[in-house]
Amino acid sequence: MRDIKELSLLELECFLTDLNQPKYHARQIFSWIYKKFIIDFDLMSDLPVALRQRLKESFFITSIKLEKQQSAKDGTEKFLFKLSDNNFIEAVIIPAKGRVTACISSQVGCKFACTFCASGIKGFKRNLTHLEIIEQLLLLKNKFSGGAITHIVFMGTGEPLDNYDFVLKAIRLINSKDCFGIGARRITISTCGIIPGIKRLEEEDLQIELSISLHSADEDIREQIVPVDRKYPLKELMRICKEYIRATRRQITFEYILIAGLNSSLQDAQKLVRILSGLRLVKVNLIPANPVKELNIAPPGKLEILLFQDTLKKAGIPVTLRRQRGQDIDASCGQLRLKYEK
Ligand code: SAH
Repeated sequence: MRDIKELSLLELECFLTDLNQPKYHARQIFSWIYKKFIIDFDLMSDLPVALRQRLKESFFITSIKLEKQQSAKDGTEKFLFKLSDNNFIEAVIIPAKGRVTACISSQVGCKFACTFCASGIKGFKRNLTHLEIIEQLLLLKNKFSGGAITHIVFMGTGEPLDNYDFVLKAIRLINSKDCFGIGARRITISTCGIIPGIKRLEEEDLQIELSISLHSADEDIREQIVPVDRKYPLKELMRICKEYIRATRRQITFEYILIAGLNSSLQDAQKLVRILSGLRLVKVNLIPANPVKELNIAPPGKLEILLFQDTLKKAGIPVTLRRQRGQDIDASCGQLRLKYEK
């Protein structure tokens, strides 16, 4: 049995020609899978029954299975998937005005152990393949009734730039007209600051969005909460970001988790203003920390959050405050998987 997703349109046409079947069935099959998110050959109603049977004998469409689905009151839906080797990954669907965002995973577990994030608690297991990455989208859309997926963010478990080749391969498939056909500008890679990956991304001819998980503008604090900062220090990271913006003329979004007593004071906000002041085309996304029981973190009070936001605004830095969503379903990175694996 082969994974049918390994085949390009041309290869599938060849397969059909060998069976003395018309080539146009290949486009129909692609359309069932990537446009209509049908993952069962029996439901491909415009194919001859005998061909469906033959396809079933030769190919599978997805290798991952839905293990659990949870819906939050605010419309966010969280999915736990079981991989063929019995590992678990998570993905989330976040519907908002005029868009539906799929937040997907790039690795099983994570090496980088950011102190606020549940994904790293049990360490790293392995990379996902490009096919496992796109299967998340197939299953998400298959199980979600609320409209087409319009945006994709690599903010689930794992570090996408630590799985560069598979993630880029997946993005090219997601972007390709034959497959999902989702515009590159609607695909976001989020990284904890893997400098060689950012440099490689700069060279790609892809208009994707880049988010940097900054979380502090102070080297000592950042080292504490994002340990990879020791390998790729803040100063160098900011230099590379500047270079990336200059070369690509694309904006970078800096993600900043606000954690009580750690990085959310007025001084912290002022430091952030200072390190961003030399950069054009930046945006800051503030994220009040979701409490994670195992990690003993909490968001600051409302007033402190607003003061932080206001400091950036007054300095002319575009800033958004992420609404906390899906808290009743453990929607923060890695939380559901953690609960499930115990
Ligand atoms: N490794 C990549 C991709 C993971 S996404 C990266 O670091 O960017 C990481 C994001 O998950 C964070 O920027 C944050 O937006 C979110 N996140 C993880 N733990 C969280 C928590 N406890 N509360 C709120 N957001 C969290």
